[in-house]
Amino acid sequence: ADSYDEECDYLFKAVLIGDSAVGKSNLLSRFSRDEFRLDSKPTIGVEFAYRNIRVGDKLIKAQIWDTAGQERFRAITSSYYRGALGALLVYDITRRATFDNVKKWLRELREFGSSDMVVVLVGNKSDIGHSREVEEEDGKNLAETEALYFMETSALENLNVEEAFMQMIGRIHEIAS
Ligand code: GDP
Ligand code: MG
Repeated sequence: ADSYDEECDYLFKAVLIGDSAVGKSNLLSRFSRDEFRLDSKPTIGVEFAYRNIRVGDKLIKAQIWDTAGQERFRAITSSYYRGALGALLVYDITRRATFDNVKKWLRELREFGSSDMVVVLVGNKSDIGHSREVEEEDGKNLAETEALYFMETSALENLNVEEAFMQMIGRIHEIAS
């Protein structure tokens, strides 16, 4: 509401991608409103959220798009990626299949997204490490191979969430300025 009217120096779009139920919507609500919800709501009703970030003397307005459940039906289209400068590609460290699918998401990203998009690979749900199926090292290695940034997060415990988004936003800002 009030943030809409604030003067910003840059406005940019970033997208959340990854299999369903990996925690994309909760990462976004944590980042934009500091909220978390335990019940899984595939559709959150809004397609994006804003947050204003001050970097040096510049005010950046980040518009972050969420899939609103469309990833369930593989219905994410090119318009979702259009104009996006960054992406958080999220998997769930407790479900190996979501990590195996990262390659599929990267193919889509490279087909529809711009080639200089800043991509952060995010292994979410680090709070439930006892049911871990993907080692942190595996995430790191994949990120290195694919030239992505990497971070493990917990939207539940608010671990590294700010850092993951800020890594993407900071890098986009560097490229854009
Ligand atoms: P999305 O489909 O990728 O948007 O995933 P959601 O954000 O809807 O989350 C799917 C489920 O995982 C929900 O039940 C969330 O409460 C849960 N969840 C999301 N993030 C975390 C996390 O960091 N830790 C734990 N333990 N559960 C999480
Ligand atoms: Mg969602």
